[in-house]
Amino acid sequence: MRRGKEESLDRFHPWVFSGAIASMPSGVEEGDVVSVESSDGRFIGVGHYQIGSIAVRILDFGDTEIDKDFFARRLKEALALRQALKLDRADNDAYRLVHGEGDFLPGLVVDVYGKTAVVQAHSPGMHYCRDIIAMALTELEALEVANVYYKSETTLPYKARLDPVNEYLVGGFDTNIATENGLHFHIDWLKGQKTGFFVDQRDNRALLESFSDGRSVLNMFCYTGGFSVYAMRGGARRVVSVDSSAKAIALTSANISLNFPDDNRHEALAEDAFKYLDSMKAGEHDLIILDPPAFAKHRSALRNALRGYQRLNAKAFEKIVPGGILFTFSCSQAVSREQFRLAVFSAAAQSRRRVRIIKQLTQPADHPVNICHPEGEYLKGLVLYVE
Ligand code: SAH
Repeated sequence: MRRGKEESLDRFHPWVFSGAIASMPSGVEEGDVVSVESSDGRFIGVGHYQIGSIAVRILDFGDTEIDKDFFARRLKEALALRQALKLDRADNDAYRLVHGEGDFLPGLVVDVYGKTAVVQAHSPGMHYCRDIIAMALTELEALEVANVYYKSETTLPYKARLDPVNEYLVGGFDTNIATENGLHFHIDWLKGQKTGFFVDQRDNRALLESFSDGRSVLNMFCYTGGFSVYAMRGGARRVVSVDSSAKAIALTSANISLNFPDDNRHEALAEDAFKYLDSMKAGEHDLIILDPPAFAKHRSALRNALRGYQRLNAKAFEKIVPGGILFTFSCSQAVSREQFRLAVFSAAAQSRRRVRIIKQLTQPADHPVNICHPEGEYLKGLVLYVE
């Protein structure tokens, strides 16, 4: 490390930026495990090296061998937290087992759906470790992982030329119905977005359920229809799910039928969110969910993203019934909680509605934030009472 650049690492922040590196032994290749030393030769930790602005992701601040035993220990610790949270129950078998830095495994995500674990590598180092990770997953006591599906075609840095293949590393296709808080969902880990389901909205969906009784619900950006299924159970009078992707609409309809066969309260429409909100009659809905994809994938797109959140929320404010409730989210890591709140505030002012914050939402406990790595907090939500 360059002199003075080790300060954040001494506070256990797990990233080494490329500009902080003084020298690198020859022959180090992307994905290798490297040890990091301070300018005066003090050992700091071991991590995965990669080409890019974040050059090393620290895996351990001790001099640890990165082998199957290492992953077995980390996975056991990750599982212990989920068990403490009682997420593995007869009526709930979908949850995130590994949330990158939040589980001291930077570059790795593992979601569990019943007997299937879906593994996503975000760093070349984790890509090279995929087989030992899969093995360690199947050997975890107290968790019956029979299938491990590796899905990293879109999450690894393109320039690393790793040509990852989405495939089963262990087992094969199994029933793809998972259960969340007693509700059933088809999880399409083969072709769906991310690992097939957004487990990060579990708590927020449960909260929505408690607001749904007798309401007319609009679930915008519905994807698998998670919020819609909870709204149905919560006693909504009518539920409209909208997504621009026809595949998402098919999944939503399948999930509604799975839980509420022959229930005619639900309608699913493949349409653009902005177009739908423009053509919707004012006063049609008194509970609206806006859960768009990340508008800013990178810091450079921040200004446009904030304008996008403002525009979208303003449309919802213009149309929602007085006394209505708006659940509005941002999952962009580059957008801070304050910036998001400001964008929604601007939208409220623009639409001249009286708006009060009744709840502030975040990601659930199986997406923990390592306290030394505040960047791990990404999901922001507001529940608003709109007059
Ligand atoms: N609320 C969902 C997750 C939303 S993911 C859940 O709880 O699981 C974002 C979704 O927005 C994707 O399904 C994507 O197809 C959809 N989407 C992206 N752009 C859109 C647009 N302009 N209009 C409508 N839907 C859009």
